[in-house]
Amino acid sequence: MLKLSKRLLAIADLVPPGARVADIGSDHALLPVYLVQSGKAAGAIAGELNEGPLQAARSQIAAAGLSGRIAARQADGLAAIEAGEADCVTIAGMGGALMSAILAQGEAAGKLRGVGTLVLQPNVGEDAVREWLLDSGWYLAGERILEEDGKIYEVLHAVKVADAGPLNRALYDAAFLPLARPQEQKREWLIRMGPWLLRQPDGVLVRKWESERDKLRAICRSIELSEQAEARGKSALLRGRIDTIGEVLACLHTVKPLHN
Ligand code: SAM
Repeated sequence: MLKLSKRLLAIADLVPPGARVADIGSDHALLPVYLVQSGKAAGAIAGELNEGPLQAARSQIAAAGLSGRIAARQADGLAAIEAGEADCVTIAGMGGALMSAILAQGEAAGKLRGVGTLVLQPNVGEDAVREWLLDSGWYLAGERILEEDGKIYEVLHAVKVADAGPLNRALYDAAFLPLARPQEQKREWLIRMGPWLLRQPDGVLVRKWESERDKLRAICRSIELSEQAEARGKSALLRGRIDTIGEVLACLHTVKPLHN
């Protein structure tokens, strides 16, 4: 059986047993092949925009002897599926802005009809994906963070449920963070850092945000060399972010874990 990376295994783990999966942006079709080979998925579609990765997906599927159960299709985003063809969509290894655009276009075209689970692994811009899920009536049922080969990844698990509104309101209620900031500002940080991840803090989350803080400090140092008023404004904004990250990290040990 195909051996998956820790990152792809974390995604596979969140796919519901027996699902018909559409993996969008499926270079090499590693995830669909593993899901079908392991018996976790009933069948799969590997959607891929670009010719090279599509050929790699086709070769992988053929080598696994799964051409009858996994369809590789060249398409932009969710155009790879017909409405009702999949009940779980996975999208991994691209930026959060592109992922949100793919989901928004797919939803507008009715391609998410019948889909009950989304498993999403944005490489950057996780906040854009959380915003899209919130605005589109998906409940963020869980989040994972992991480190592999020196990189940190977040995996978001969302489900379509009738009571997504109240569930998300409770999830994004930032009162549990003991920070002296307005609720709305604290909520923005939940969207950036992850409402589940902040409630189940671990060392990987702390390392991610210490590293983000270091990057912001380096940007600040370089823009503070500029004499322009605009640069000073930007630097003040970044300094505020740096301080907030520090405050959030400092208060994490007081947070009571919430189990999903
Ligand atoms: N999902 C795999 C993973 O996580 O290992 C592959 C990730 S790879 C970095 C991103 C893939 O998404 C590329 O193969 C790229 O061609 C594909 N892609 C980018 N934009 C896309 C779109 N709009 N629709 C479908 N595939 C897309």
